Amino acid sequence: LPPAPYPNAPDLDFAIATKRSQATEALKTVHAQLGRRYNPIINGEAVDTEATADSVNPSKPAELVGKLGLASQEQADAAIAAAKAAFPAWAATPAKERGAILRRAADLMEERRHELNAWMVYEVGKPLGQADPEVSEAIDFCRYYADEMERLDAGYAYDYPGETNRYRYFPRGIAVVISPWNFPLAIATGMTVAALVTGNCTILKPAENSAVIAAKIAEILIEAGMPPGVFQYLPARGSTVGAHLVNHPDVHLIAFTGSREVGCRIYADAAQWRPGQRHMKRVIAEMGGKNGIIIDESADLDQAVQGVVYSAFGYSGQKCSACSRAIVVASVYDAFIHRLVEATRSLNVGEAVKPSTKVGPVIDANAQAKIKEYIEKGKAEATLALEMPTPADGYFVGPTVFTNVKPDAAIAQEEIFGPVLAVIKAQDFDDALRIANDTDYGLTGGLYSRTPSHIERVQNEFAVGNLYINRGITGAIVSRQPFGGFKMSGVGSKAGGPDYLLQFLEPRHVSENV
Ligand code: NAP
Repeated sequence: LPPAPYPNAPDLDFAIATKRSQATEALKTVHAQLGRRYNPIINGEAVDTEATADSVNPSKPAELVGKLGLASQEQADAAIAAAKAAFPAWAATPAKERGAILRRAADLMEERRHELNAWMVYEVGKPLGQADPEVSEAIDFCRYYADEMERLDAGYAYDYPGETNRYRYFPRGIAVVISPWNFPLAIATGMTVAALVTGNCTILKPAENSAVIAAKIAEILIEAGMPPGVFQYLPARGSTVGAHLVNHPDVHLIAFTGSREVGCRIYADAAQWRPGQRHMKRVIAEMGGKNGIIIDESADLDQAVQGVVYSAFGYSGQKCSACSRAIVVASVYDAFIHRLVEATRSLNVGEAVKPSTKVGPVIDANAQAKIKEYIEKGKAEATLALEMPTPADGYFVGPTVFTNVKPDAAIAQEEIFGPVLAVIKAQDFDDALRIANDTDYGLTGGLYSRTPSHIERVQNEFAVGNLYINRGITGAIVSRQPFGGFKMSGVGSKAGGPDYLLQFLEPRHVSENV
């Protein structure tokens, strides 16, 4: 019998009136808490900082979500020293006890689900319907990695007459987690709890744009029982203090999710030996994507349009898994575009807090300017099929569709990370598959088709970490769809999958003559 499916945490059903009213209540309660200060937590103590940064609501930038105390390099050093001191006791703590803390954290997240949703609405402009599955994912990461660590903790016995052979896993030491803002709860939680449950003392350096949500993760982990020094929350500038953490000789492991540019920099920096360093650093780097969906002549176009629209414009295209290229075979190209443009036009663009909003803002003014630059480039190199209007206030970019895009155009090759879709015409399925693979990235991909031979071929020939057939390409679920890419999309094995924790561990073998 196949193993029973993993019991993932269910999302809220907002069709139920009480869930909607609880959500509205939480939005009000959290709104009343906006503007508070969040300081780094080093060795169990909140510490004051000289530098600060404002985290604002991207739907309404005048609204301060939280004031962040930004750690200095000296404070980062103090966090590393505290982690070092806490390591022996944490490494010796049984895996079951470490896992129990994760399970308590999961329960606390479940209790605070509406509140966490509300923080995501305000801090990163994520509409409720998209925020809630993220809470489920964070909960799943806690429970799944707790189970996984217990599985690995048993190790392996390769005994032989007269000889015991034991294979066991040990923590690596000090882990630095550097997280992005786009899945501010799930990704930061996933990397952090993976590092912790495997026995590593862990410093979480969240993206500045989502450091208030990371402070909520910190509250939860500490309340769940993470000891001082074992887990530390360190909001700080990525380019200076983040880089300092990466370069520190006492750090053993860096778990990073973010852009290709920063990931490559971290990979290179971590490879350098520094005086006092007695180990090679391990880097797990999950980076960008330029994900394509192929639509062939046998596709159910209604299904394809719906899947492409949601995958391209959900959370304003700011998912690493988002669809940014639709590769459509010539015989259905015109029909597909017509329906795609009409379906996209029906999306409501507006503040994330409004229940009717389907597409909220992008994260900040820089992202908005960069995406708009790409739209200008697109106008020069392809046909603009749709550019939707947006509210005046806030960091909005309307869903934008380009057609007749050449496979080598900038908008078909570079990660835009916004609501911009490039539609590319392919001569036939072979041509479509060639175009789909003609990218530096290998994260997600999709196919809409009812042709068995095409469905079979993509499984072997479409070079992506996560391939989705006849469905949208975002929203991987822990354990069911372990998630992660290769090529320039990153190094490391899949989050929420059976190999993930191995990266945070060092296997040792003992052979005893008995
Ligand atoms: P980012 O700009 O690379 O930032 C990610 C993190 O790195 C932030 O915490 C940032 O801190 C920090 N950082 C920046 N410069 C650094 C340096 N020199 N050394 C150490 N840390 C540094 O990425 P983002 O804009 O937050 O996220 C969007 C990107 O993430 C997209 O490319 C997306 O595809 C990718 N992503 C990939 C996955 C995946 O699973 N493959 C998942 C989600 C997102 P500051 O905020 O202080 O700059």
